Amino acid sequence: MAHLQPPPTSPPAHCFVKRTFHKPVYCHHCTDLLWGIIGQGYTCEVCNFVVHDKCMKTVVSPCSSVAPTLIKTPVAHCWSEPLHLRRRHCNVCRKKLDDTWAIKCEVCEYNVHVECEDFTVPNCKDCATFVPEKNLSQVVQQHHWREGNLPANSKCVVDKKTCWTGECLAGLRCEWCGYTVHAMCADKVPADCTFGLLEPIMLPPTAVSIPRTEVPMEAIIGVQTRRKDTLSPRSISEEFPSGDYKVRESDELSRDRTKDRDEKDEEVVKVFDGNSSLRRRMFRLVTVSRAASVTEFLTAAMRAFHVPQENTKTYLTDAYSAEETELTDPLPVSKLTRRDGKRPAVFLRYREKDNDEGCIRVYPSRLGGEVVMDHTVLPVTSSTCVTDIIAHSLHKFGITNDNPDDYRLVEVMLDKGVSERVMECNERPWDLLKAVARDSIRQMEMTRFYLQLVKDPHGPSIALFVGSLPPNLSQRQYENILADIVGKAGYKYSSIGPIYYEYGSMVITYEDSDLAVRAFYTLRESCYDDKNLLVMLLPNIQPQMIPEGVQPLLVFVNVKSGGCQGLELITSFRKLLNPYQVFDLDNGGPLPGLYVFRQVKHYKILVCGGDGTIGWVLQCLDNVGQDSECQHPACAIVPLGTGNDLARVLRWGPGYNGGEDPINLLKDVIDAEDIRLDRWTVVFHQDEKVEEKQMQTNSTGMSRRGMYIAHGQDSNRRRCISKEQVHHSIHAGSTSEDNTQIFVMNNYFGIGIEAELCLDFHNAREENPNKFNSRLHNKGVYVKMGLRKMVSRKLCKDLHKEIRLEVDGRAVDLPPVEGVIILNILSWGSGANPWGPEKDDQFNKPNHWDGHLEVVGVTGIVHLGQIQSGLRSAIRIAQGGHIRIKLNSELPVQVDGEPWNQAPGEVVVLKSALKATMLKKTSKSKLRRRNTEPSMVANEQTKLEPIRGDPASTSHPL
Ligand SMILES: [Zn+2]
Ligand SMILES: [Zn+2]
Ligand SMILES: [Zn+2]
Ligand SMILES: [Zn+2]
Ligand SMILES: [Zn+2]
Ligand SMILES: [Zn+2]
Repeated sequence: MAHLQPPPTSPPAHCFVKRTFHKPVYCHHCTDLLWGIIGQGYTCEVCNFVVHDKCMKTVVSPCSSVAPTLIKTPVAHCWSEPLHLRRRHCNVCRKKLDDTWAIKCEVCEYNVHVECEDFTVPNCKDCATFVPEKNLSQVVQQHHWREGNLPANSKCVVDKKTCWTGECLAGLRCEWCGYTVHAMCADKVPADCTFGLLEPIMLPPTAVSIPRTEVPMEAIIGVQTRRKDTLSPRSISEEFPSGDYKVRESDELSRDRTKDRDEKDEEVVKVFDGNSSLRRRMFRLVTVSRAASVTEFLTAAMRAFHVPQENTKTYLTDAYSAEETELTDPLPVSKLTRRDGKRPAVFLRYREKDNDEGCIRVYPSRLGGEVVMDHTVLPVTSSTCVTDIIAHSLHKFGITNDNPDDYRLVEVMLDKGVSERVMECNERPWDLLKAVARDSIRQMEMTRFYLQLVKDPHGPSIALFVGSLPPNLSQRQYENILADIVGKAGYKYSSIGPIYYEYGSMVITYEDSDLAVRAFYTLRESCYDDKNLLVMLLPNIQPQMIPEGVQPLLVFVNVKSGGCQGLELITSFRKLLNPYQVFDLDNGGPLPGLYVFRQVKHYKILVCGGDGTIGWVLQCLDNVGQDSECQHPACAIVPLGTGNDLARVLRWGPGYNGGEDPINLLKDVIDAEDIRLDRWTVVFHQDEKVEEKQMQTNSTGMSRRGMYIAHGQDSNRRRCISKEQVHHSIHAGSTSEDNTQIFVMNNYFGIGIEAELCLDFHNAREENPNKFNSRLHNKGVYVKMGLRKMVSRKLCKDLHKEIRLEVDGRAVDLPPVEGVIILNILSWGSGANPWGPEKDDQFNKPNHWDGHLEVVGVTGIVHLGQIQSGLRSAIRIAQGGHIRIKLNSELPVQVDGEPWNQAPGEVVVLKSALKATMLKKTSKSKLRRRNTEPSMVANEQTKLEPIRGDPASTSHPL
């Protein structure tokens, strides 16, 4: 586990110098103002840490020059695209990010200037730490402290005082449990992290493994799909080195210091860190005094590259001299070769001659068992080879019984993310390090070695999810398609399945990680029928590693719903939870997530999206249910976009508007109670005689063929089905006869005027989707269409004469109506209640779990408007569990908001065997909201003791 905090014995390694500040500055250690007029305090020349005289001795935050060396397990961050971050401070140079380009990590709270990217510390959350040798009682989760940018008003869990400040980078927050502390209080927090309030729904990292491959986390959790050309190197101009924040610092210093410094005494020199720095034109500008000695110059140069090497091993050379001569005292600066119009330049070099021995650091990589050491330092010479080092470090780590052949040594470079390479037995690490130093001394510093088991903790199998193939082919056909793509290249998988025929997707499994990775990249670049294939490398969840009482939350976010809110939510949830439990529906829909969770005995689902998205997830659950341990995971909702009738009924509200802190959404999910949702099967059976004609005009589009159209293969068709709705069309494909279609209905089913309006609205949206983004606008359009309908009504006049209704086997006489709505839930058309609240002797009080549907009638467009605005109820017609309707003519119909014109025939609505358990928000969460602050820590103060003792307790102190 990466640790920000250095061991107590290790110095934070800042280079503090006394400074006079001309504007108010705050101590990064105690967050108080630095008082006085001159010489108020100290600042670090490397990382800009500002500190009181009195606080200097107790500083615990490490300098960015040594921070990377303090990491035990390096984990690369998932960088966002460059953006502007307000009111935040850079985790490298500690300055404000406000108006400059910055990047942030998508899964943890690490934010830096784009220019500071070279010096980032790869200490992201370690989200998949499963070790097969350890069982549940042996694993320990540690806090993962992140410095600075705490939520406003954060309080220290140790002394209950404010540890938040907007003035500088200060305070620590655990990326897992959300505890916030003063830097100096962190060692007083109990060492075990229990995930705080989110423990009941957290997928513990110790239960997750990802295969040991080069595929980055971004690709696994699907962040990279929205990033453009991140692989192309940033261009750096010769005259404005964007990789140089020293420039900005010296500008600022010069403004601060104009009076007390004679500029003529100093010179700005370009420093290159070895050959790679020259190749990439990445230099730093260093301001040195003309009187400086070689040692002073060298120290300044090394600081510029955040290199903590002892300077006896390094030296400077004159970059523009013919022979690249080493700088010597006295007055090395004035002896530098000068070229017209260019700054003098020096190389930072590593002394290779007479340097045949040194020390290397070897770290244990997920060795489990009894290894307690962080790392070991081994003396090496030019002749020490990898085999020697493996034997030596096994001894140091106290692993004496194992065969050294079961282990291997991995070279890990922490510079610019994390790159790993397995070393050959006869390689010589010291020569390798010297070669790295020739290229860059910083890279040498950032290179270390890990001892790991040859056997991957993830196990030998690697599962790839493959999607976007045509639905409803045979297994043989799918195998042929895959064989054409990966088989020819020699990357044949070892097994296939499950296959989700209705969705054109499947899981293929490899027993060889190299093959799997090559197949992954090959498939990702491949198309079938002009569609890019979707490929995901899937993590494993070890169900035995999930503590009793914990029900991990499987989060699905429809990022396309509700404008940019989906995107903001997915980022928040990745940071609050384990990113491997958060799935972007844009990336293969609900199936990859449901597959990954298939062996988890108890889990819950959170769907962020519209009613259509919920239907989509429920339908996929129906599909995978038999193969999963957890048959009916309960579903909670964060409503996005418009409609959201099911969300309203279950008290999740009309739509998330970004106002609520995402942590509160998760707290509501923890508190929510299970409730059953009846589900219904709607069977449309078209009359034989009109079928032929119907197929030609294709006005319903609900044939087997229609489903293909839904996947975008027919451009002639008017009605194009959006992703949210594909599930309905897909279901049509699962019928046995071509003139029968079966749908699952969760909310309501309408015939007549209301469905027609819905259809008009739908078509308008399809023609001009951009106009329909806002909830308010949508409602406006709906009303306008209603008015138009008053003038040009056609189909639904005298609907009661065109249909015949039968409820529970009894014919029901219809009053004169233009529309009939059959309700499972008591919310329809974005929150209206057509049944109405009145008590009635004739009918039972309706709900969505009693196995009954409510049938109501609408007399016309005016009546419909009145229902929608809550002025009137519809006409109550019947209640029952089995409904049969005969359609004498073509009529508009809608199921759960998806409309079409249905040819004459018969419709039967009957109770589905499929069940759904939903989560209903409890009213107590509303109460709680009023009494507490949004911050996690405000609630945290009273309960520092671990809650693991009774995780099953439903009443967490909130
Ligand atoms: Zn202080
Ligand atoms: Zn520092
Ligand atoms: Zn910075
Ligand atoms: Zn990160
Ligand atoms: Zn923690
Ligand atoms: Zn404190």
